[in-house]
Amino acid sequence: MASREHLPASGPEAPPTSSLPFGRVPVKLSVREHLNVTSTTTPEPAPTQGPLIDRYGRIHDDLRISVTDRCNLRCVYCMPLEGMSFLPHGDLLSFDEIAAVAEVARDLGVRSIRLTGGEPLMRAGLVDLVARLKGLGFEDLAMTTNAMTLASHARALVDAGLTRVNVSCDSLRAERFSSIRRRGDLAVVLHAMDVAEEVGLAPLKVNVVLLRGENDDEIEDFATFARDTGRVVRFIEFMPLDAQGSWDRAQLVPGREVFERVHARWPLEPLSREGDVAPAERFRFLDGRGEIGLISSVTQPFCGTCNRLRLTADGDLRNCLFSDDERPVRDALRRHDLDEVARLLRQAVWDKYPGHAINDPSFLSPARSMSMIGG
Ligand code: SAM
Ligand code: SF4
Repeated sequence: MASREHLPASGPEAPPTSSLPFGRVPVKLSVREHLNVTSTTTPEPAPTQGPLIDRYGRIHDDLRISVTDRCNLRCVYCMPLEGMSFLPHGDLLSFDEIAAVAEVARDLGVRSIRLTGGEPLMRAGLVDLVARLKGLGFEDLAMTTNAMTLASHARALVDAGLTRVNVSCDSLRAERFSSIRRRGDLAVVLHAMDVAEEVGLAPLKVNVVLLRGENDDEIEDFATFARDTGRVVRFIEFMPLDAQGSWDRAQLVPGREVFERVHARWPLEPLSREGDVAPAERFRFLDGRGEIGLISSVTQPFCGTCNRLRLTADGDLRNCLFSDDERPVRDALRRHDLDEVARLLRQAVWDKYPGHAINDPSFLSPARSMSMIGG
């Protein structure tokens, strides 16, 4: 099992170790410390046997696959309204190539796959990819979607093997929803949630990115929504991964504030346990009516238990959302050199930094934004 050693927080804006009745101890946020290790020594080859493990003992068994960087929406925290440029189609991995990486990853211990993007349902034939991945033996096959076209695909996706879905929905007020997500329609998304549940994609998770002054007055409404529907609402902190580069800490609503506001109205108790690898800290309502999650990537980083690896739509392995470290596998795939794909997977994990450095003054937003990496 991976070591779950947590280190004290550092940096001028590091969050205090909170007095909350919950909360992971923040990991030390240092990219430079890691660089110091490697810059003075010869790069160390990854182990050639055993699971995908990094030099801090974290075992990686969760692969996020971005199938496209395109999207039918333009959420304010993700993409500009105009001027976004997208990958040429020839740069995208084919389904054969994605399945080949997944198969190698499976043989190295990956158990969970999440399809994402951009908007994954923009990729033609996605159901076929789900079936291919199911055929490789993945029992946990999830997708994150804006749900604009989910209703018409939900049944086929489940029949093909999809087991879970996260639907993004940042407001329960129609006008505001459309203004945050630009081009989106709340009614379409709420209908898609109903359909997804009808075909068995339950419990549904609902992703809410909170933006100060935009939708933070809906925290209690979303908690009520979770209590009334049984859907697990996950409040996500705004991360410096927008394509515009306009992230501002002042817009971020800390997970702690969400907890305090919801807890004051409907007492909560933690569901997460020490060593949990899921990014969300989970809480259930004490009266038994539902659950919420907090994804506090900025103020309460979960790097110490991170088990994720990402594959971008154009075939780069990415070991962290917040690091520009990318290992291209496309050439190896097109040479049918799967040993090299396995080596790249191992090395990408082995070289992972101990934590992201969002709270360090030296932090620079990654060159590729959330929709290009695959959130
Ligand atoms: N298009 C799909 C969707 O919106 O669900 C999947 C891809 S999207 C990049 C994955 C998740 O990332 C969504 O829940 C979205 O709200 C979230 N996201 C995008 N940009 C973000 C940012 N700057 N900070 C925090 N979350 C973000
Ligand atoms: Fe598209 Fe998802 Fe980004 Fe919104 S968050 S613009 S739906 S990729």
